[in-house]
Amino acid sequence: MLGLMQRRELLISSIIVHAARHHGEAGVISRRKNGALVGASYADIELRARKLMGVLRDLGVQFGDRVATLAMNSDRHLELYYAISGMGAICHTINPRLSVDDIGYILDHAEDGVLFVDPGFLPLAKGAAVRTPSLRAIVVLGEEAEIGTCNPPHGKAVYAYETLMSQAAAAPDWPEFDENTASGLCYTSGTTGRPKGVLYSHRSSLLHAFGVCMPDGIGLRATDRVLPVVPMFHVNAWGLPYAAPMVGATLLMPGRQLDPVSVLRLMNEERADLAVGVPTVWSALLAHVRATGARFDTLKRIMSGGAALPLALVEGFEKFGVEAMQGWGMTETSPLVTANRPKPATVDAPADHACKQGRVLFGSDLRIMGAEGESPWDGKTPGEVSCRGHWIASGYFRHQDNILTRDGWLPTGDVGVIDRDGFLKLTDRTKDLIKSGGEWISSIELENIAASHPDVAEAAAIAVPDAIWGERPLVIVVPREGRAPTPEAIRTFFEGKVAKYAVPDRVAITDALPHGATGKLLKTELRRIYLAPKA
Ligand code: ADP
Repeated sequence: MLGLMQRRELLISSIIVHAARHHGEAGVISRRKNGALVGASYADIELRARKLMGVLRDLGVQFGDRVATLAMNSDRHLELYYAISGMGAICHTINPRLSVDDIGYILDHAEDGVLFVDPGFLPLAKGAAVRTPSLRAIVVLGEEAEIGTCNPPHGKAVYAYETLMSQAAAAPDWPEFDENTASGLCYTSGTTGRPKGVLYSHRSSLLHAFGVCMPDGIGLRATDRVLPVVPMFHVNAWGLPYAAPMVGATLLMPGRQLDPVSVLRLMNEERADLAVGVPTVWSALLAHVRATGARFDTLKRIMSGGAALPLALVEGFEKFGVEAMQGWGMTETSPLVTANRPKPATVDAPADHACKQGRVLFGSDLRIMGAEGESPWDGKTPGEVSCRGHWIASGYFRHQDNILTRDGWLPTGDVGVIDRDGFLKLTDRTKDLIKSGGEWISSIELENIAASHPDVAEAAAIAVPDAIWGERPLVIVVPREGRAPTPEAIRTFFEGKVAKYAVPDRVAITDALPHGATGKLLKTELRRIYLAPKA
């Protein structure tokens, strides 16, 4: 027997319709390139997104087509999110920090027909577009003047967004279709090979947004003013463009100004309650506030993800009355799977409990797999973190590879332990473990210890082949400005902090570590530099 309840498809458009109807006064404040702040209510965004559907149709976009964006966080990017997905096309966000070559590959692989770009990314777009036969048009997110003296790439049209919008008639309503329809596409860089596309659906995005809003998710409400420093090209800015309008929270969009001075100014001028981003952003912001004597006028919480949140940051923010918390996930998981929010048993846990990645939210599930099967939740037996759920990928776009285990779980390449309260603590990644004399050494642990040395700004640990031990750790550090630690001082700093076998034999000092487009350490590059056979 079936229930007698109404069935409505879980469509992304329903979020902006709700926001316009019930939170029309809330909306988005965006920093433009010239520094000006512009406001748009959710009612404005909904109306303009319906106009944009008209623009997309005029540009020949049809149901199921991929439409690319190369843009920072702004109201216009939000309009694109809703209009493209809302008409049944696929909003394909591309990371502008990637190389022209990778962007060209991604555009071509996805067969994008139209590309929307921030004016500053136009040269990049043009460079990448020449390799993309499917691409018909580039639309510059601004006024006609912002196209500049652009020679369109051969066979492609270039338009100004606001000109097209001024000529378009708003679609009268939002189309209805199957909630399993693809809505978004985001490519993620692997350790090897070309980037692979994760293809989100309306249903997965909507359910993930519910999870983000839950009090023990990121936790959003109508009175919140949220600053996503995490870009909209990176896993849909962790779902905030859907979650904030869902509850009527206001979004503060920083545009390209992601330096600590600009981020703090936007926070204080626009009274942010919550900001979301990676640890690198938070450490730069904290250093700026400490150095200048500035303060956080209204900020109550920051949410960190993408990399481990060091205790020093949690404690640093606490001194300014700001709670720092972290979540864990990846592009393949939409991303939020865990958030570190207390349970009754952990309310009085020691401070370093904040360094755990957190516990799973309803909607996905987590397990850690050791050599013997699922590892016990004892806080000490590690295993590869695997997940499954409503917003976890089942495969990559146009890839044959089966990425799930036979019983339907996604192995993540992260290694961790789960404690008896269900809190995940990452200890390593499968590719980054160092095995010495049969014992595992955590490269992350070595990096965290090195980074806590007062003279060290950043550290990386890699495995070096060793005739006796199989592998030994090499720790590479970048000194803080004005400091000159010796390798021996760093090496002895490990003594007593890790097992004897884990104390690195070698420490190298360098000026800078190589980072990828999303700020992650490029260990492959470090291996190339430090493990190259000597001539
Ligand atoms: P994102 O950086 O948005 O989480 P990516 O797919 O680029 O998405 O990277 C996912 C990887 O980042 C995870 O597999 C994990 O290795 C790392 N990561 C994400 N969140 C955390 C966290 N809170 N602590 C440590 N590592 C994390």
